[in-house]
Amino acid sequence: MDEILNASLEEMGMADFDCSCGKHHKMNIKKLIMGKGVLPRITEIAEPFQDRKILMVSDHHTFTAAGERVLEYLEKDQYMVKNLILDSGNDILIPDERVVGKVLLNIEPKTGLLIGVGSGSINDTVKYISSRTNIPYVIVCTAPSMDGYVADGAPLILDGRKISFPATLPYGVLGDTEIMKHAPQRLIQAGFGDVLGKLTALADWKLARELNGDEYCQTCVTLVQRALKKVLNHVDGLAKREDKAILYLIEALNLTGVAMGLLGISRPASGAEHMLSHYWEMDFIAKKRFPELHGIKVGIATPIIAEVFQMMQDDIPENVMKEVPDREYCEDMLRRVGAPVFPIEIGIDGELFYQSILEGYKVRSRYSVLQLAVEHGKIQNIAEKISSRIYE
Ligand SMILES: [Zn+2]
Ligand SMILES: [Zn+2]
Repeated sequence: MDEILNASLEEMGMADFDCSCGKHHKMNIKKLIMGKGVLPRITEIAEPFQDRKILMVSDHHTFTAAGERVLEYLEKDQYMVKNLILDSGNDILIPDERVVGKVLLNIEPKTGLLIGVGSGSINDTVKYISSRTNIPYVIVCTAPSMDGYVADGAPLILDGRKISFPATLPYGVLGDTEIMKHAPQRLIQAGFGDVLGKLTALADWKLARELNGDEYCQTCVTLVQRALKKVLNHVDGLAKREDKAILYLIEALNLTGVAMGLLGISRPASGAEHMLSHYWEMDFIAKKRFPELHGIKVGIATPIIAEVFQMMQDDIPENVMKEVPDREYCEDMLRRVGAPVFPIEIGIDGELFYQSILEGYKVRSRYSVLQLAVEHGKIQNIAEKISSRIYE
């Protein structure tokens, strides 16, 4: 029981165990390899597909960062690789129908494996196509920027709207810290923000267990908490791009993915802080503005949700409040990695902010501290107080 608590991340990819929460948890990622200098292991991951063609997808930045070397390793070992570099010029690659179509049109007959080299957009595109073509995929992570490498949903843009499509888990995930530590600082800050958000996500999950009877798994919580602690203890190393700190960050991101995969729900990864982030994002997309990186928004939302918890503490059981981080602590952590701390820094105005506190609970039907505040008729007062603290 709970063997997973003693497993390495690499072993967790194939976890299969009876859990003390009463459920049987199972994962199916054949190769989950993170570490310093692990990039050459791409040939080991691709081995079962040696007699088929491989389509490798990257963009200009990620090809230079890692794709070029991945291609070299594979070709040296006689793999048949078609190399597709998506051209987004100086713009950020948006995973929309044009990009998905382009990748699809480049899949030749007898293609047995897709390899994505990149982070957010490339990961989502390749993952989606893998799920629709049944061709397995491997993602080579170029930045520790979000927790979607080990996740089975693919958020894509269709007709200008963001839709989260059901997709599939990867066959393999390869993350070399030698590569990821050179990622743009903003992507590292975003990854950190997404990890920081787990603090309030876990508090929210416990709240939902206590007040709403939601299912809960202490083993998965322990896994995420341990990984989280390592990241928070090495926050200054992240600003300096130290290998160890980068490794802890990508491990925490992927481990949260494993926890989600084991449970089949995103509770360990996403609570009210993600609702605020989504609310802001929908507004940005509707106004055709750059929606900002996922983790940057989640990071900013985390101290705000911590504050909502504090303001609701009279209605929250003590064992839940114990899990809630301090607002000031979260803000300090963001500052230390150089990430934006206040919503205004990414262009969220007072009106949007106020509305997001009032209506954030509507983003998805999931019990959270926002829902609790709504039920107790306190949300308006909370929205006014936090807004005036931040905006006046
Ligand atoms: Zn469990
Ligand atoms: Zn997230």
